[in-house]
Amino acid sequence: MPKTASFPHDIGENLKTVKSAIATAAEQADRASAEIRLVAVSKTHPADAIRPALLAGHRLFGENRVQEADEKWPALREEFPDIQLHLIGPLQTNKVKRAVQLFDVIETVDRPKLARALAREMDATGRRLGCFIQVNTGAEPQKAGVAPEAAEEFVTLCRDELNLSVVGLMCIPPLDEEPGLHFALLSEMAQRFGLKNLSMGMSSDFETAVRFGATHVRVGTAIFGARAPVTPAGE
Ligand SMILES: *Cc1c(COP(=O)(O)O)cnc(C)c1O
Repeated sequence: MPKTASFPHDIGENLKTVKSAIATAAEQADRASAEIRLVAVSKTHPADAIRPALLAGHRLFGENRVQEADEKWPALREEFPDIQLHLIGPLQTNKVKRAVQLFDVIETVDRPKLARALAREMDATGRRLGCFIQVNTGAEPQKAGVAPEAAEEFVTLCRDELNLSVVGLMCIPPLDEEPGLHFALLSEMAQRFGLKNLSMGMSSDFETAVRFGATHVRVGTAIFGARAPVTPAGE
C-alpha cells in the first residue's frame, strides 16, 4: 500500500490493514481476534471521510468532542442505524445531556461530579450507556483520568452507588513512555475490579495493547490519515 495515498479513497483498505494487524497480534498473544473491537477514531474528519468506512461495513466509531459529534453523526445514523458511537474525549458536565443522546458508550468517566451527572441523566431518560472509567495511569497532572490509587473507590462509587453500567477501564499512556507498562497496569486493575473491557492502544501502539489484553483499540490516523490541518481536496 503506497503511503502517499492514504486519504481519503483507500479508507476501506486502511481498515482492512488495521484489522489484519489486530488479528495477527491477537493470534500471537493466543487470543481470539473477535474479542477485540476496533473503535475507528474519526475526530476532525468530515462525514465524507467517514462514509467509506461505513460502506466498508464498519460501524464502531469514536469522537472526542460532543459538538463535533453532534454536527456529523445524527445524519450518518439516519443512513446507518446500527452505528455505535463512543465518546473518547473529556466530557464537561454541561454537555452531559447531549452526550447521552448522541453516544452509545462514554469512555472517559473520570470524576464524581461527572459520574453523578451521567447517572442523573440516564435515570431521567432511561438511556443506559456503557461507561469506561478513564485512569490516568501516568499520573500526568495535565491529563484527564482518575488517579490509579483512587480508581477502586471511584469504580465502586460509579458501579454500586450510582448504578452506572461500568464495562471497563480506559487509558491514554504518556507519549514518552513505554506504553506496555501502562497497558499492564490497566489490565491488572481491571482484573482486580472484576471489569471485562480494556480500551487502550492507538495507531502507534494498538498491537502492543492487544498483547496486553485490550478489548477495544482506538485507532484514528492509521485509518483516516493524518489530522494535520491540510485541505483534503489538495491531496
Ligand atoms: C485521537 C485519539 C485516538 C486516536 O489516535 P491515533 O493516534 O490517531 O490513532 C485514540 N484515543 C483518544 C482518546 C484520542 O483522542
